Amino acid sequence: MNHSISKSVFARAQQLMPGGVNSPARAFGAVGGTPVVIERGQGAHLYDVDGNCYIDYVGSWGPLILGHADSRVTESIRQAIAKGTSFGAPTAAENRLAELIVGAVKSVEKVRLVNSGTEATMSAIRLARGFTDRDVIVKFGGNYHGHVDSLLVAAGSSAATLGVPDSPGVTRGTSQDTLVLKFNDVAGIEQAFSEHGEQIAAVILEPVVGNMGCVPATNEFLQVVRQQTERHGAVMILDEVMTGFRVAYGGAQSLFGIQPDLTTFGKIVGGGMPIGAYGGRQEIMDQVLPAGKVFQAGTLSGNPIATAAGIATLEALQQGDSYPKLERLASKLAEGLHQAATKLDVPHTIGRVGSMLTLFFNSQKVTDWEVASQCDTERFAKYFWGMLEHGVYLPCSQFEASFISTAHTDEHIEQTIQAAQQSLAMLT
Ligand SMILES: *Cc1c(COP(=O)(O)O)cnc(C)c1O
Repeated sequence: MNHSISKSVFARAQQLMPGGVNSPARAFGAVGGTPVVIERGQGAHLYDVDGNCYIDYVGSWGPLILGHADSRVTESIRQAIAKGTSFGAPTAAENRLAELIVGAVKSVEKVRLVNSGTEATMSAIRLARGFTDRDVIVKFGGNYHGHVDSLLVAAGSSAATLGVPDSPGVTRGTSQDTLVLKFNDVAGIEQAFSEHGEQIAAVILEPVVGNMGCVPATNEFLQVVRQQTERHGAVMILDEVMTGFRVAYGGAQSLFGIQPDLTTFGKIVGGGMPIGAYGGRQEIMDQVLPAGKVFQAGTLSGNPIATAAGIATLEALQQGDSYPKLERLASKLAEGLHQAATKLDVPHTIGRVGSMLTLFFNSQKVTDWEVASQCDTERFAKYFWGMLEHGVYLPCSQFEASFISTAHTDEHIEQTIQAAQQSLAMLT
């Protein structure tokens, strides 16, 4: 495969942008070499500037559950654009997207639209602190909630990959109010509440972590977080920026039967346009300005183009058999990868919930960051490049989830399994 145009575009990018990218995960830092530069996407496929075609499992890191350039989404965007790109005033489309979110997720009674997942978690944290009049936030190792100062501690994915658990520029004061606990550790959360219960404003977590590879919370863990937060008057924030409308239409909370106080969204709710949302119990949401006193605002929030893409995506997901199809294709892929790795004696374990999955180069089941960090990342890098050469575009880190879209077919999955057989064979 020739990547010469990608290489020259990226060389210029490095002179213009830090590391040549606008978000670190794109830079291929964890696998070495230079990223391929994308020209366009269609359905399950990505095309780079050198004309190479790949089956895509990144899906823009989660949003593209319908695949690239789905005509229902692009048509909805086209219609919205013709009417203007932004008004900074109420629109009926905002009601429609809010209705879809409130209708899908039982714990969400009111919702506020913002511009990114980071903004959603940042705002939810402020709201939880304002509501409880407390300072301390509990988070878990390997969970990523965007680049919010107080949450940029032990934050998985980019941070973990680069070996930077704390970012320079986050003040000691800020990180002092963040308590980092081990994911899936029931005793840890019980102990934290018995020691600091009166100071804890909120517990924030990913129900299925996507940012240390795909690692689901156990049912027991989620139940204990729910019980402890309720008992001590803390707010439970479920970060469903990745899992919302991904693992089920009602989010991971509908799969696990859990009712958080607040939920954050992003990615799929914007159908590939920049968006985020946070919502939850009316009593808490009514603390947000101008209904209440917790400040949060945004010039482009509820943007009509982003809203149009989100509405089209959620409406498409309501129709037909999207989720059974995603489940069937993802389980077929997981089974194929497992068989290929087993046959070649490659130590591995697969984390999967619905259409999110990770092949970990680790013989032990991954339940937390301590186990995840023992993966053979050099092996992953070789596997990644093998797959790319065979026309499969995977997330460029062991600690990211692959995503399947409704545009994927049985044939794509079969091609991917064949590519994996060849790529894994090169490792041994
Ligand atoms: C992607 C992600 C975020 C951050 O969203 P951005 O839109 O990138 O700011 C927050 N939380 C989780 C769980 C995510 O996967």
